[in-house]
Amino acid sequence: MSMGEKSPFIIAGPCSAESREQVLSTALALEKIPEVHLFRSGIWKPRTRPGSFEGIGPIGLPWLKEVKEKTRLKTCTEVARASHVEEVLKYDVDVLWIGARTTANPFSVQEICDALKGVDIPVMVKNPTNPDLALWLGAIERLEMVGIKNVSAIFRGFSTYETDSRFRNKPIWRIPVELKRRRQELPLICDPSHISGNRKLVSELCQKAVNLNFDGLMMEVHPTPEQAWSDAAQQITPESLSEIVNNLTYSKEHIKNVQFDNEIEKWRNSIDIIDKEILDALAARMKIVEKIGLEKKRIGITALQLQRLDQMLKERVYQAKEMGLSEDLAHDIYNLIHETSVKKQIEIMNH
Ligand code: PEP
Ligand code: MN
Repeated sequence: MSMGEKSPFIIAGPCSAESREQVLSTALALEKIPEVHLFRSGIWKPRTRPGSFEGIGPIGLPWLKEVKEKTRLKTCTEVARASHVEEVLKYDVDVLWIGARTTANPFSVQEICDALKGVDIPVMVKNPTNPDLALWLGAIERLEMVGIKNVSAIFRGFSTYETDSRFRNKPIWRIPVELKRRRQELPLICDPSHISGNRKLVSELCQKAVNLNFDGLMMEVHPTPEQAWSDAAQQITPESLSEIVNNLTYSKEHIKNVQFDNEIEKWRNSIDIIDKEILDALAARMKIVEKIGLEKKRIGITALQLQRLDQMLKERVYQAKEMGLSEDLAHDIYNLIHETSVKKQIEIMNH
């Protein structure tokens, strides 16, 4: 059930376990927030570059066990190799997650999966650092293939080299939305902490995730965020988490209104008809492209003519603007259509 319909399922806790006191005090504060069900804490930290804090290691595992004994919270942590899986199972960790850097590596994912054969434990899979839906799905499928029944996905944004990005990891929302479209039964959790890299942006990202019907949120929480040993800029206090959760507003997507439903149904039918017309037009266009391809082959000229592309794009963008449509939309659509056409012609010419 999505957050649009009920209060969110929240996973919260520090980026890294630092000390027994830090772990326990965070957990004791978080258990007072009813929406928080699962306590997170990194034990092994995959750092992009060496030299920063790489996690407290297995001495932190008894602290997680203590969280379970002293609070109502269940625990989760990141595993990146088979030996991590073996260690965490000794301390009754309830849920595991595979980190973004690990998801990007099928060898590592498979190693974890092999260690999980015959183990009944929920696993959450963070998206890979690069925007690659297939890689994300692949890791999920590997877990399913070794019999993990309870798999969910965490969206934490993608690495970017853009210097003007507001976010540490760029949230290309259509990728998790597409994952959810393909695998509707899979719970989808948003990690606003790693997307933002900045605690000031966490609240707006939580609201965005609610609006997009994510099923839960994972947030990094620390008693004194500025002093955290890792990801200090993005962690929030338990008090801020409580405030963020209380201020979330829920969409009315699921409110029943028969008249509204009927009206929408009519519009959707019209859209379906128009979309079919668009597809028919694309098919007709492609037929002509094929004819041109044959002709180009006969005369012996190249499939791609940059001048034609340039002229066509300018014209379509202008036409779209005149019609009150977005110039970006026209530009992107026609670039794609043209690229597909050129591919088709190259196919014809090599035949
Ligand atoms: C984390 O959750 O602390 C973490 C390392 O996240 P990611 O794998 O998304 O970078
Ligand atoms: Mn972190």
